Amino acid sequence: MQRILVTGGAGFIGSHLCERLIAAGHEVVCKDNLFTGRRQNIEHLLGHPRFELHRHDVNEPFVVEVDHIYHLACPASPVHYQRNPVRTIRTCVQGTLHALECAREVGARLFIASTSEVYGDPTVHPQDESYWGHVNPIGDRACYDEGKRCAEALAVSFARQYGVEVRIARIFNTYGPRMHEDDGRVVSNFAVQALRGEPITLYGSGEQTRSFCYVDDLVEAAIRFMALSEDAATDGHAGSRPMNLGNPTEVTIRDIAELVREITGSRSELVFRPLPADDPARRRPDIGRAARLLDWQPRIGLREGLARTIEDFRTRLG
Ligand code: NAD
Ligand code: UDP
Repeated sequence: MQRILVTGGAGFIGSHLCERLIAAGHEVVCKDNLFTGRRQNIEHLLGHPRFELHRHDVNEPFVVEVDHIYHLACPASPVHYQRNPVRTIRTCVQGTLHALECAREVGARLFIASTSEVYGDPTVHPQDESYWGHVNPIGDRACYDEGKRCAEALAVSFARQYGVEVRIARIFNTYGPRMHEDDGRVVSNFAVQALRGEPITLYGSGEQTRSFCYVDDLVEAAIRFMALSEDAATDGHAGSRPMNLGNPTEVTIRDIAELVREITGSRSELVFRPLPADDPARRRPDIGRAARLLDWQPRIGLREGLARTIEDFRTRLG
């Protein structure tokens, strides 16, 4: 049994992770300021003797005696992270600095939730970890993209300078039950719109692509990544090496709209809205490194994952 801190544990991915860690017999401390997360996401864990919720903003320093830290605290949806861009950069940079300082102080291994957004609007396809990316440093998405890039730089610096064991995961689009109905990301928007019989809003032509990973697959990979020995995780490099985590099945956003319509049986019409600035045209992870080192592949296909997600929305929306 380990004692594990999960920052952002009341959010979408964090709540699934907390659940899995508790089920595996660990003690879990969740730190969250409930900015985009919700108590309901972890309500079923609140009475558990091995689970604690600390309401805390990671922009304030913290020290918790733990073996492992999963640092997820940060808004993830473009709608939310662009609402207060200064705060988003602060959370990416200062929040990660505090997580690293805590890891250094108590000697914990640290998982950093980075993102495929570090590749920006990629000019290389699919994206593997050696690609340095194509990010607009002053665009609408910069607060998140550059914030996460800085978080990675901080993490490798702590690894090289202080020997902190860090695991940088570049997470690609992840979806599943417990996404907020007002989250603003594509799967939640389309599912809610279809269930309510409202128009489904395609931004741009709908021909842009993404590769969607079901949350259980992502959490499994994250846990395996943290279990990996330091030698294997660094591949003999000084500091830490990032790892793409995601599902390589690439689809257009229009495909998602059609699938959601089919699964819900909705007659919602498709309507077209302007494409947001710097919206990446194509995105697909090369997961060769994760497959090799973690002996892992995503198992839940898009149709099954969407059906489970839509069922959850159906229950919650009544
Ligand atoms: P989410 O918004 O559901 O969860 C984020 C959690 O962090 C929320 O519970 C929120 O309240 C909390 N939080 C935000 N700012 C905080 C602060 N200053 N102090 C304490 N808590 C704070 O998002 P998610 O989809 O679960 O994403 C979790 C992590 O994974 C994020 O770091 C995100 O950047 C990363 N990620 C997610 C995806 C995805 O597709 N879901 C893709 C790439 C990276
Ligand atoms: N998108 C869309 N309609 C929506 C929400 C999003 O067409 O209601 C598009 C968005 O422009 C992007 C893709 O879906 O091309 C994925 O968007 P999301 O915000 O989920 O994730 P990200 O852009 O960060 O990958």
